[in-house]
Amino acid sequence: MGKSGESPRLLGIDVGGTKIALALGDESGHVVARTRRPTEPSGRIGDDLDRLAEDVRKLAGQAGLEPAELAAVGVSLPGPLDVEAGVVLSPPNLPGWDRAPVRQHLADALGAPVYLENDANAAALAEWHFGAGRGLRSMVYLTMSTGVGGGLILDGRLYRGVLASAGEIGHVPIEWGGEPCSCGQRGCLEAYVGGRAWMERLRRITPAESHVAELAGGRESVRPEHVVAAARSGDAFALSEMARWDDYVARGIVMVVMALAPEAVVLGTIATAAGDALAFEPIRRQVKAHIWPHLAPRLRILPAALGVDLPYLAGLSVAVEGVRSAG
Ligand SMILES: [Zn+2]
Repeated sequence: MGKSGESPRLLGIDVGGTKIALALGDESGHVVARTRRPTEPSGRIGDDLDRLAEDVRKLAGQAGLEPAELAAVGVSLPGPLDVEAGVVLSPPNLPGWDRAPVRQHLADALGAPVYLENDANAAALAEWHFGAGRGLRSMVYLTMSTGVGGGLILDGRLYRGVLASAGEIGHVPIEWGGEPCSCGQRGCLEAYVGGRAWMERLRRITPAESHVAELAGGRESVRPEHVVAAARSGDAFALSEMARWDDYVARGIVMVVMALAPEAVVLGTIATAAGDALAFEPIRRQVKAHIWPHLAPRLRILPAALGVDLPYLAGLSVAVEGVRSAG
């Protein structure tokens, strides 16, 4: 909750492949108004951004604010993007948004400062400001969703690297020449633990007569959540798939810990859904066995804390970061 007397003058926008979420709130993550709609890209970037500016105007209006009274508008977008120039490069799910001047267009339309961040970095900022990483100086966030996105908070700030592409831990090859990845490379961490890759594997290898196939209503419909549910009831195939997943996640984390020595690694969707016994405990054991002993007691491997609020707080945290960087 926000501190009393603090006025909610930050507005966050999360532009997802299917939904756009907007939130009006303050620096402590207290949200006073929120809204959500389907993304519906028109193919004409100017029209899409004008519609987005109208969404902002309406939401700010609910708190009696003109857009120009906003201290910052933060936008979380699919990468890659040029943060300095405020330009989106080529988001696969947003036709017509190639080299889109999002920051300039929205700033002109709203009369407020606008800041952009790619979605994985924005999610890392949100977990750092408002979620599992609160109060830490260094943390690594891994989305563990359809794909494996990542964001790095190092020594008290977001580390972006070239084209804000740092933290793409999902695309570090952990098996040379291994499974093909959606990015075009082979053997990436995402090709083993990303939700889409795992689902494709499961539809290939799940025995037709199995508890997992039964839960899914057929092996062609198997999803990671069916493996999690079957593993909870002790099913051997599900437990072996879960153990394989944990093992690969641990390989990714070991690399991150030895490279960056963060205080925490925060894991999103699939890990959070699988929980302690099926994911966090085995992952912690594996990681501990493969990193230097003096690092182990200082490392926490934690579930993401924001859940369904993440899109709203991702945009908002970009606005928070914008205000801090400007001040
Ligand atoms: Zn890849």
